[in-house]
Amino acid sequence: MRLEERFLDAANGESERIGRFLADLVSTPSLSRRENAVVQRIGEEMSALGYDEVVIDDFGSVVGRIGDGPVHIVFDSHIDTVDVGDPASWRTDPFRATIEGGVLFGRGASDNKAATAAMVHGAALIKRLGVDASRFTLHVVGTVQEEDCDGLALEYLLKNAIPGAEVVVLGEATNLDVYRGHRGRAEFAVHTRGRAAHASAPDRGVNAIYRMQPIIEQIERLNGQLASDPFLGKGTIVLSKIEAQTPSLNAVPDGCTIYLDRRLTIGEDVESASAELESLEAVRKGEATVELLSYHGTAYTGLTLSIDKYFPTWVISEGHPAVQAGVEAARTSLGRTPKVGRWVFSTNGVSSAGRLGIPTIGFGPANEVYAHTAEDQCPLDHLPLAAAWYAAFPDAYLAVSGRGGG
Ligand SMILES: [Zn+2]
Repeated sequence: MRLEERFLDAANGESERIGRFLADLVSTPSLSRRENAVVQRIGEEMSALGYDEVVIDDFGSVVGRIGDGPVHIVFDSHIDTVDVGDPASWRTDPFRATIEGGVLFGRGASDNKAATAAMVHGAALIKRLGVDASRFTLHVVGTVQEEDCDGLALEYLLKNAIPGAEVVVLGEATNLDVYRGHRGRAEFAVHTRGRAAHASAPDRGVNAIYRMQPIIEQIERLNGQLASDPFLGKGTIVLSKIEAQTPSLNAVPDGCTIYLDRRLTIGEDVESASAELESLEAVRKGEATVELLSYHGTAYTGLTLSIDKYFPTWVISEGHPAVQAGVEAARTSLGRTPKVGRWVFSTNGVSSAGRLGIPTIGFGPANEVYAHTAEDQCPLDHLPLAAAWYAAFPDAYLAVSGRGGG
């Protein structure tokens, strides 16, 4: 049997164990900043599978290493989840894995724990099947706080614990296809100032909310005029929250703030998006200020990292060896040619590809439409398929990039 076929054969033999591991992960709640229990569970699994080294970094992410060669390859899945929302909207217990008809349900199943389960076991197959791991070092990473601030934990790892990574594979759900980018995003606040006065005499004051009103209208119009890209789609802007500062409900408010979610397509970045807002006629006339928001994340380890809420757009070209290796790994290990596409949402790729320029692709089990929903789920038969692909990728990457393997 060819080595690539042995990957799927061996992964199929492990499918029950991978499924049990996923059930454990889903049944171990890991909301952002509270990932410690799931980190322990993943570390135990890696150790039991014979990883060469397992470490937890200062920010709380878990990293398992296989091999010690010169080409550093990173498999990343994030291990935190969003909260459950309205518990009444769940048909199953969100924090107890439920299996029905070959599908595993529970919070985090699709986003992103199925990938963690498949990556951890897929990488272990490399050792078990005797692949020559002296040519590469594979780092299997479970990152924290992705849901709160995509890219933050992965960037910290890539700068500190794993310098020199050559290619990154994200496990965010792709339904077993190969993805190569997504729109970026930035979060802004716009502030207007007024002058407070007693509400019985509005003429004495300046109403900060009224000053915001034309700005809101112009932002809504702006959404229709933003740039578009044939692959990534259109840039968008959404007013997601509004608040006012006022001395009382019987006063003219002297401050108003709106919050904006701006999705950035090709050719758009934080400077262009910020300049666009500042040049709106109503912003200039209303003497409003535009602020890029920032994030301060304190991990369960106690370490706090801060970052501007700008997450750059990234796309890897279809002909890049990382993308080609992704396609090749699916052909050889799964016997099928995957589609090459993009995510609608944002991922840790904003740091690996967007900020650090490291070629990044995506391959993951589950369908992204279930992410963050009360039907969060992954078909169990995706797990061995994904594991076989993860096992096949390092060889495929070395072969496609002209350094043997295969
Ligand atoms: Zn995710």
